[in-house]
Amino acid sequence: MRDVLILGTVALDTIETPFGKAEDALGGSASYASFSASFFVKPAIISVIGEDYPEEYLELLKGKGIDLGSVTKADKTFRWSGSYEYDMNEANTLSTELNSLATYKPEVKEEYKDAKYIFLANIDPEVQKSVIEQLNNPTLIVMDTMNFWIESKKKELLDVIGQVDVLILNEGEARQLFETPNLMTAANKALKLGLKSVIIKKGEHGALMYMNGKHFNAPGYPLETVKDPTGAGDTFGGAFTGYLAKSGDLSEENFRKAIVYGCALASFNAEDFSLNNLNKIKMEDIDERFKHMKEIREF
Ligand code: AMP
Repeated sequence: MRDVLILGTVALDTIETPFGKAEDALGGSASYASFSASFFVKPAIISVIGEDYPEEYLELLKGKGIDLGSVTKADKTFRWSGSYEYDMNEANTLSTELNSLATYKPEVKEEYKDAKYIFLANIDPEVQKSVIEQLNNPTLIVMDTMNFWIESKKKELLDVIGQVDVLILNEGEARQLFETPNLMTAANKALKLGLKSVIIKKGEHGALMYMNGKHFNAPGYPLETVKDPTGAGDTFGGAFTGYLAKSGDLSEENFRKAIVYGCALASFNAEDFSLNNLNKIKMEDIDERFKHMKEIREF
């Protein structure tokens, strides 16, 4: 049994930012999310890769205690290529090659069916739904998505949102999905689908949370070095779910702390390409940043 089950992509990313380029780097929503969650709990990934996936990338994930027993192999690995301008809050997708993801049917192993904390990271909403259907009695299901799925599978996506507890998405996606320029309106439309909470990520400006008729606004950590924000959203979601699973406290007050941990981890991720910086930091570094973020907001 694992503390947190994470469904998402394990990918090969090719990325260009004004500060450098990475080719066939370790990426994917589940990779970032599980690496980030591993600072708090022992996560397991449910995903698919191809025969072409480098063994050293899998070793890096395993080295963090991440269970890869439900990562199956078929055909070629999912590939994503993106670029960023100086405003690095939004990626321009250059190409998405679904490859093995196009026919992927996830299987939740018997030993994981009773998992309590689930993060359905960015992946095909039909795959997200299939995992929900295989679970027995989860305590909390958190989900993320992106424009690719809003544009190609909106109906399926809205259906999944109706079956989870927390929706995390970025501000552009919130406007696009709920067809409104106003984030408050988007959040209210999301909550009407039955969610406990909706979290809207605002890139370097942090995140907003709507829950129990209340509104929380977390700061982004002020960074001088931002090399590559790829995976920041997944890192946020992994830390958020991991922290909640570790503490077992689903109060609104604790959701706020989970969001600040999410923003702290996401900021470390943006300081370098792929998982390079997350692989260097320790829990003490995260706690120090968490404390600093509290100070930033005190008045
Ligand atoms: P983020 O920057 O947090 O939005 O996530 C970036 C990661 O998501 C990259 O590592 C990609 O491999 C992965 N990704 C990109 N497009 C998709 C997609 N359509 N579905 C699932 N994962 C994706």
